[in-house]
Amino acid sequence: KPVILWFRKDLRLDDNRALHAVHRSGRPVIPLYISEPESAGTGPLGAAQAWWLHHSLEALDGSLREQQGRLVLASGEALEVLCAFIRESGAEAVFWNRRYDPAGISIDAHIKHELEKQAIEARSFGGQLLHEPSRLMTGNGTPYRVYTPFWRALEGGGEPEQPLEAPAKLRIASQLPKSEALESWKLLPTKPDWAVDFTDLWTPGEDGAHEKLRAFIEDALDGYKEIRDYPARPATSLLSPHLAFGEISPARIWDATRGLSKRVAAADVVHFRKEIAWREFSYHLLFHFPRLASNNWNERFDGFEWRNDDDDFKAWRRGMTGYPIVDAGMRQLWRHGWMHNRVRMIVASFLIKDLLIDWRRGEAWFRDTLVDADPANNAASWQWVAGSGADASPFFRIFNPVLQGEKFDPDGNYVRTYVPELRGLGAKYIHRPFEAPKSMLDEAGIALGQTYPKPIVDHANARNRALAAYNATRDAA
Ligand code: FAD
Repeated sequence: KPVILWFRKDLRLDDNRALHAVHRSGRPVIPLYISEPESAGTGPLGAAQAWWLHHSLEALDGSLREQQGRLVLASGEALEVLCAFIRESGAEAVFWNRRYDPAGISIDAHIKHELEKQAIEARSFGGQLLHEPSRLMTGNGTPYRVYTPFWRALEGGGEPEQPLEAPAKLRIASQLPKSEALESWKLLPTKPDWAVDFTDLWTPGEDGAHEKLRAFIEDALDGYKEIRDYPARPATSLLSPHLAFGEISPARIWDATRGLSKRVAAADVVHFRKEIAWREFSYHLLFHFPRLASNNWNERFDGFEWRNDDDDFKAWRRGMTGYPIVDAGMRQLWRHGWMHNRVRMIVASFLIKDLLIDWRRGEAWFRDTLVDADPANNAASWQWVAGSGADASPFFRIFNPVLQGEKFDPDGNYVRTYVPELRGLGAKYIHRPFEAPKSMLDEAGIALGQTYPKPIVDHANARNRALAAYNATRDAA
């Protein structure tokens, strides 16, 4: 009797524990992906991730076809779909890898309960994280709220499980149920096709993920600690969307960074692992404090008086704030569905503090536009910048977008890549075009207020306004 292998955000054959368990059992597998309705609580799927999902499902289907199988696609409430497939195929078991977002957890618990009532074996496995979110706890048995002790526990807590190779020969059920057509899900943009440039950077699917990992270890890991903060340098792994869709497991990444110390400085490897650990920490927080997803973790922020000006929000989204590093970041996001981490911090600080717009609006925009949108990392990072999070940067740390630009994009190459109308400006004024002499702007073909906006706020005033709003909240608490 076959086993249904229910794929979710684990679109891979390598190091897939549920897949391995089916394989080891010797039973034939029915590989299934379900598009769950938004009302189930796990969605909505952002537009950029819809693009990714389309290509990732295609890639997974391709890998299964190499094994004389294919991926079955279905849409609807997961329990209903599973029950229908069980009836049709005579399957006696459903296996899956666990998800850790609050909606996913409750759907899965319900499904497990219902299937077991029908004497269907429902088994779930780990592997989306290095460790289960309850494995590392403080000495008092409580969850961690601060990253550094969490990291120490992770580092000293024993090696994660060894990744498992993809089975060489999968036994796929000879009679697979009919699949819906991927095209009918309409995941790709039509007109305009805003994703045209995505393929410059991305190859969704597990081969693409492994290639990114290989290239990163060969070309960029050496020096990572230093250079990772410079957005014009190709210095980070670009693994985030692959992790978000589970096309590669964190254990596989961890394992690949073992034994490199002859070629790469140990500090670089440790720093990279620390970033993977930030992802673990975000999930640890979300798992133990599910309200983090959409509520201020620190309730003091509930009374914060946001301005929420719609014109400002629009200027931010379109990369038209008049602050080049902010605009470059927002346009990189639009063009490639991704933004460099340093710049994410700068644009988030600008939205929250300079514009006094609720972090949740920024988080939602990122969710719609990032290919790596992740329920734990996105919410935890936005709250980190806002100062409302668990182990957060204090609110009064307000980035100066000009100085940040000058420090981390000293030649202005990042700005020139994404804000072409400033291309003619030299390094001295590229981050502060509003201070450039008129003759220089004329020579560079820039008419401020016409070809490129004047700053929508004065940073020094905005900073004072933000601090006043913060102090008012603090005094009221
Ligand atoms: P690398 O530097 O190569 O890091 C390797 C991996 O470590 C990443 O793929 C990611 O899984 C993890 N990682 C790195 N930095 C962080 C971090 N600060 N927090 C948590 N995990 C981290 N990351 C997401 O994956 N999804 C999001 O939706 C997301 N939203 C963010 C929103 C804001 C406001 C900020 C400031 C950061 C956000 N991040 C998010 C974290 C970080 O910016 C990205 O993970 C990183 O830029 C991805 O690029 P990379 O894979 O090349 O990173």
